[in-house]
Amino acid sequence: MSKTIIVSNRLPIKILKENGKLSYMPSEGGLATGLGSVHEAGDNIWVGWPGLAVGNSDKKKEIKKSLKKQNMWSIFLSTSEIKGFHEGFSNQTLWPNFHYFNQYTVYDEELWKVYQKVNKKFARKLDKIIAPGDTLWIHDYQLLLLPQIIRQHNPKSKIGFFLHIPFPSFESFRLLPWRRELLNGMLGSDFLGFHTYDDMQHFLSSMSRLAGLENKNGKITVDSRLVMVDALPMGIDYDKYAQAAASPDTLAREVRYRTSIGDVKLILSIDRLDYSKGIPQRLRAFESFLDQHPEFVGKVSFFMVVVPSRDTAPKYRQLKQEIDLLVGQINGRFARLNWTPVHYFYRSFPLSALSAFYRMSDVALVTPMRDGMNLVCKEFIASKLDKKGVLILSEMAGASKELSDAILINPNDINQLIDAMHKALVMPENEQVKRMEIMQRLLRKYNIHHWAEIFMEKSRVCQKLSAGIDNKAVGRASNKTDNKSV
Ligand code: UDP
Repeated sequence: MSKTIIVSNRLPIKILKENGKLSYMPSEGGLATGLGSVHEAGDNIWVGWPGLAVGNSDKKKEIKKSLKKQNMWSIFLSTSEIKGFHEGFSNQTLWPNFHYFNQYTVYDEELWKVYQKVNKKFARKLDKIIAPGDTLWIHDYQLLLLPQIIRQHNPKSKIGFFLHIPFPSFESFRLLPWRRELLNGMLGSDFLGFHTYDDMQHFLSSMSRLAGLENKNGKITVDSRLVMVDALPMGIDYDKYAQAAASPDTLAREVRYRTSIGDVKLILSIDRLDYSKGIPQRLRAFESFLDQHPEFVGKVSFFMVVVPSRDTAPKYRQLKQEIDLLVGQINGRFARLNWTPVHYFYRSFPLSALSAFYRMSDVALVTPMRDGMNLVCKEFIASKLDKKGVLILSEMAGASKELSDAILINPNDINQLIDAMHKALVMPENEQVKRMEIMQRLLRKYNIHHWAEIFMEKSRVCQKLSAGIDNKAVGRASNKTDNKSV
């Protein structure tokens, strides 16, 4: 039976080493959380890097064996590949460029070489796994070159690609010296999915301006092949979050946490440590909110979870220091013996704890400077079983295109943020319920299963249309479509 092969940089697990023994835990992050349900279906497998450097070949064998039992196939990266590919080109070149943080973009030919090398390594592994009829579903910015490499090896491959981060405007993307190669890599796919219409339009604009390839309703003809491009906002496993919010464990935790914190309103934020998430900006806004609205001093606390991420990189270490300082400053200025302004947790939590955080919070403050989608805001909505609670959401998050019943803000506008906090905290319950109901209906319908189904369906349609083009092209002069790749 044909299978779907999910390919991503990281496998959806975290391997922990304790006293020489390995243990396996599901990892955080939107992709890992979101695609779990797809991976578990049928004979589907997931191919990727297990997330740690392993030199010892016995350990590699042990990891491979354990992960295979969970339908995961491992690709091991050496220490220099982890540095050059993962921490280097992916996170210091593509990540800042795609999030419009070009002051942080590193342009380094050596990192680019390692990026190419690792994409080829993935392709070699996949060559051994792909059987006729299989569909590949490749994920994210670490593997932009992979679709084209696979297609060169196997022109009939069925390849879908989804980008989980924003695709930047041409003016940002053009800064990359390797922009043509990156576009060409993506064009190896049959179907390319983006979270938002804007991302898709940015991609098409780069196609047009860098390659002279025009599209017709999101369809591009490349070398007698059809490439289809579309916007497909990723949803969440709605029922999982709704059910977690009703579970006895969550309720018990909520009672415990609430008892400790006392009777105050809670504003919640949950992010990985990243400059794209706007964490310092949010803290400054909260401080100014307390200055401007002294009636809320002692009455509202900011409950802030920051999940450690990339914290060996200097930019991220600096960000962590900035956050630590700001939290210290706010708590130092405003704290009372019986009230803490900012409850700050620099660690990750399991679903049952997150679920209790979502339930007990009055407001979710989701204010990234730029975010491909943002799943936390969707999880907050799904967890609000009593429909009470307010979402403040950045216009720069992909999710804002769907969640127009949130209070939408520009994260650079501190006054707008302060007003939004005030509006959220005094919003009448009937208005909260009305807004929440609309957003819940939408997220329940456009959930992760729907997203995966539509993605696969669109990939199939694209392959069929492409086969049509292929047949018609036989015997016809091919110069019309020749040299159309970038
Ligand atoms: N998350 C988690 N444990 C934590 C904090 C967050 O499992 O302690 C999960 C959260 O539930 C969400 C994901 O991490 O599913 C974050 O996804 P999002 O799209 O918001 O941000 P990303 O980290 O992918 O940029």
